[in-house]
Amino acid sequence: MTTRSNSLQETDIAYQLHPYTNARVHEKQGPMIITKGDGCYVYDSEGKKYLEGLAGLWSVGVGFSQPRLVEAAAKQMAELPYYQNFAHKAHAPGILLSEKLVEITPEHLTKVFYTNSGSEANDTVVKFVWFMNNMLGRPEKKKFLSRNKAYHGITVASGSLTGLPGNQKGFDLPAIPVVHLTCPHYYRWAEDGETEAEFTARLLKEAEETILAEGPETIAAFIGEPVMGAGGVMTPPEGYWPGIEALCRKYDILIVSDEVINGFGRTGKPFGCERYGFKPDILVTSKQLTSSYMPLAAILMTDEVYQVIADYTEQLGTLGHGFTAGGNPVACAVALENIKIIEEQDLMGNVARLEDKFQSGLRKFSDHPMVGEVRGVGLIAGIELVADKATKKSYEPAGYIAATASKLAAEQGLIVRNIYETIGLCPPMIIDEAQIDELLEKLGAALEGLPT
Ligand code: PMP
Repeated sequence: MTTRSNSLQETDIAYQLHPYTNARVHEKQGPMIITKGDGCYVYDSEGKKYLEGLAGLWSVGVGFSQPRLVEAAAKQMAELPYYQNFAHKAHAPGILLSEKLVEITPEHLTKVFYTNSGSEANDTVVKFVWFMNNMLGRPEKKKFLSRNKAYHGITVASGSLTGLPGNQKGFDLPAIPVVHLTCPHYYRWAEDGETEAEFTARLLKEAEETILAEGPETIAAFIGEPVMGAGGVMTPPEGYWPGIEALCRKYDILIVSDEVINGFGRTGKPFGCERYGFKPDILVTSKQLTSSYMPLAAILMTDEVYQVIADYTEQLGTLGHGFTAGGNPVACAVALENIKIIEEQDLMGNVARLEDKFQSGLRKFSDHPMVGEVRGVGLIAGIELVADKATKKSYEPAGYIAATASKLAAEQGLIVRNIYETIGLCPPMIIDEAQIDELLEKLGAALEGLPT
């Protein structure tokens, strides 16, 4: 028997290993414990109130403690808390959610497969794409194209698709065949004097040359976030996605749109692929699917993808893939109610209506001596901090200045995320004009407090 420590902080330090945390620093400073949520706000164990500028982890679209989601979960828990989808079994919430997802995603996507997380979903996508190409008699067509700074998860395959050294160092990743192309972020990756159109053309040329050098017969799929999120919120240059789509069609390469952050209105359109005008063969959603009240991810696919997979299951006898809790009925019931709220409250419309106020309000910080770039669309944005605006030189030590900004924002009562040199923002989609003013004011005060 272990005795209880005298505070939750001490108990946490004693017993928990935290993700995305320096364990030695944590042992000294302990956790910030969040005890309560309400709409766009959360409260810590000291009773301090924060505006949640990142909606949890880019995910609590309908806000915290929404009673309709609590009720939907409780009702489903009482009726049928668990059942699986294996071996021809099904349950109503899973069936109805599949129908709803097919209705609201782009119309060429017609079938749904569930997992518990975005990482599991992308691992599943890798396996499905391999499975398909084995069925089609082209076992050499297995490589994925991804991008530097991409975030697709942290499991073995999805962590290989991710293009961030911090997720791969020490883990022997990448562990599957993946080629990372240049990050489509004009501010950081354009060459001196290059226009945005020239930058797009260079990236598309690089993609085509890579496909030809590797051999189109070896490249199975291109995966990308329409707006890149966890790598630092990067919006693509004009013409990038249509160009990528044309190349993928030319060389018979599947397009996977990873909409784990972009999905359900975050960019001002229902799905990011609609904002940027391309048609993916596979679309991955999670996070705002349940507003992260329950773990759930959904993979949507075209009929062409489904037919090949279905044929192979007939040949092999089964689809040898599935998760015990994938498409859990409580998670599906919460997702259905969550989507109903998004529709009834027109939250996607709210994002489109507030985009200009949010984005132009943030762009006013461009005058700050340390703000190198403000970027974003809809209700997602990144503010990149630099030591020298003219040369775009980053601060030393790496990550310090954005971490400091994040701490100063927390002191002001605003939670944001520091990602390398960037401050990430992604408030709940229920945010209103007054709360955007509050966010801008608190962020402004945090930026003013930075050491110059
Ligand atoms: N894809 C994208 C685009 C993501 O942003 C994330 C999570 N930030 C994932 C995949 C992985 O999702 P999870 O953390 O649920 O495994």
